[in-house]
Amino acid sequence: MDADQLRRYLEFYQDLGFQTLYRRPSSSPAPEATAAAEEVPVPVPLPSLAPSGDSLFRIVEDIGDCRRCRLHEGRSKIVFGVGNEKSPVVFVGEGPGADEDAQGIPFVGRAGQLLTQMIEGTAQKEGIPLRREDVYICNVVKCRPPGNRTPEPDEMEICGQFLYRQLSVIRPKAICALGGTAARALTGHKEGVTKMRGKWFQWQDLPVMVTYHPSYLLRPYNQSAKREAWEDLKRLFHFVYD
Ligand code: URA
Repeated sequence: MDADQLRRYLEFYQDLGFQTLYRRPSSSPAPEATAAAEEVPVPVPLPSLAPSGDSLFRIVEDIGDCRRCRLHEGRSKIVFGVGNEKSPVVFVGEGPGADEDAQGIPFVGRAGQLLTQMIEGTAQKEGIPLRREDVYICNVVKCRPPGNRTPEPDEMEICGQFLYRQLSVIRPKAICALGGTAARALTGHKEGVTKMRGKWFQWQDLPVMVTYHPSYLLRPYNQSAKREAWEDLKRLFHFVYD
């Protein structure tokens, strides 16, 4: 089996949700003498989810016409990600809505328009010349959950391998988690977004700033949160661009 076949084989089991691989100790003695040793499997962590020489193009190829989880059943288009692959900042949302599902582009509906305003407006106010197309935007899951429900843990885990690879390829200076689902998926913390927002967390070795999801900010009774979200983006942009 060559390295590429082995990688695909391991990815297949990762898709099924396996986290740990068990193998016999490499220094096993001859087969006759191994009966007892074989009963004590040695856990080894799975290798990195990102193959060497990975690229966004290759990730799209590997996603293919994805049917790894139930979300494929209702989707029109896979929503991979959009923007500058060399961006020092990546925004991560939860999952596509109806507009995104129809167009195959993240954050193009009402929440997307607000996100664009938040990015461009905050940057401009802070004297940073930044357009939406200068940053990279993607989601935790790439297919629209039915009725815009929150993605299920298994859906996020299965699709998470692709987000992991996107972030590993881009390696931004910072990541912005939009809303609680993205924040929890990226950082593993379990608090609600109101507790996490405005603070730095970590994904692998990269800093993650958590802020409100733009859909939350669109609700009329959440207007005071808008000001906080603007503050969060200000912190993020000064960290990334100063
Ligand atoms: N909400 C999200 O989390 N992502 C999108 O792409 C659109 C709306």
